[in-house]
Parts: sequence; structure tokens; C-alpha cells
Amino acid sequence: MRADIAIIGRILTHGGERVEVSTPYGNVRAISSRISGRDVIVIPRHGDSHLPPHRVNYRAIICAAASAGAVRIIAINTVGSMISPPGSFVIPKDFIEFTKSRVSTFYEDRAVHVDMSEPYCPEIRTALIESCRAEGHEPYEGVYVCTEGPHLETHAQIRMLRSFGDVVGMTGYPEVVLAKERALCYASICLVTNTAGDGQVDLSQIMSVESKARGDLARIIEGTVSRIPGRRSCRCCRALENAEL
Ligand SMILES: [Zn+2]
Repeated sequence: MRADIAIIGRILTHGGERVEVSTPYGNVRAISSRISGRDVIVIPRHGDSHLPPHRVNYRAIICAAASAGAVRIIAINTVGSMISPPGSFVIPKDFIEFTKSRVSTFYEDRAVHVDMSEPYCPEIRTALIESCRAEGHEPYEGVYVCTEGPHLETHAQIRMLRSFGDVVGMTGYPEVVLAKERALCYASICLVTNTAGDGQVDLSQIMSVESKARGDLARIIEGTVSRIPGRRSCRCCRALENAEL
């Protein structure tokens, strides 16, 4: 199996072959498919048993993408937003994290410090933004805040997080860092499923927003895959240069 691009998250795929990719961190179930004429591997982040965000095997997922040959990763995340309404899309330009228990590096025994001044690949971000617009959605750009979960945020937490970021989710980190540690291009499209801090979150409403957006999201991903240039001219491939002490 060879793939140009990995897609992490839930997306409608037409056909495709179920595959299992073995990695040093565990096996990953995925779908090998073609989107917009390119070979892709679609990796459902939460697996068949819908693991909670703090138990997702992020290292195995990034490893599986790289093992399949993908040097580009498009991540799909759902978020609560402090800047835009449910149903809108946000393309993160930076992130902050408040996680606690997640292994967030491939380099546990070596002092490797990857630069995070540009955490998300500008080429994939541009493709995502253009593709959103082509589907009639003006995407917001903002700072993604990753919380540990699995509980949703308190009002006090939201008041605090508002001063740091724009959207809140539980799955964007450490994926973004692990991709950088493998010198892969990585960017995310976040579907806003609720307004963060706006009273009690109704999980059935979140599922309803997700289900309504499924078609648009699939078309945005198709458009993004077709817009990503054949050759990388971003700096992502040089992430490990001069990064080790
Ligand atoms: Zn890149």
C-alpha cells in the first residue's frame, strides 16, 4: 500500500480497501482509497471501538501515515468554538495545549527540539482554505486549544481559554507535534459543533451538526487533496535539521 496523503478522522469514502498497518506503537486500522486521483490512507482516529481522546494512540497513527508513504496529513477535528457558529469551519494557524497524560514525542531518550514557529503546513492550510471557499464556506483561522478531556470545559475554563485561543478540542495534540517530529506536512480542518461556554453542551446536537456537515466536509477534503501541490516547497521536510542537541 502506498499513499501520497493521509487523512486522520472520520470522512465519507467511496469504496476503498480496509488495511491494517503495523507500527512499533501498535497496529492501526485504516482504509486505503483514492480521492481526487491520488492515493490516500484514511485513518479513523478513534478506531473501531471509539477510544476516548486521551487514549488515542497518536504515535501509532502518525507512524502508520508515514509507513504508508504519506508525507502530507490532513486532520479532521471537531471543536467547540469561541469565535464562530456551529457548522462553520476553522483552520488552525497555531495551538496551545493543556493535556496531562499523553506521550507527546517520538524522542523519549534523545534531546530533539523541533521548531514549532509554524506548526501547521502552509501549503495544506492554503489548500484547505481555498477548498472551503469553493464549497461556499468562509473558514475562520484561529488558535486551537487542546484540552485533556474527556469532560467538557467548565465556564471558568472557557473564560480562561478565551484569552489564549479560538476553538477548543481534545484531539489536535500531540498529533501536530508528532507529525513535525517525522518532518511530515500536517494541517487541520476543524468542524465547529458547538459554541464553547454557551450553556450545557447537547451531544445529540453535536452529532446532528456532524451529520449535516458530512457531505460538505467530504467535498472540501476532495478539493483539498486536488489542490495540494505534487512537490513540497514548504519547510516542513526540514523540521529535524539542527533540532537535536
Ligand atoms: Zn508542509
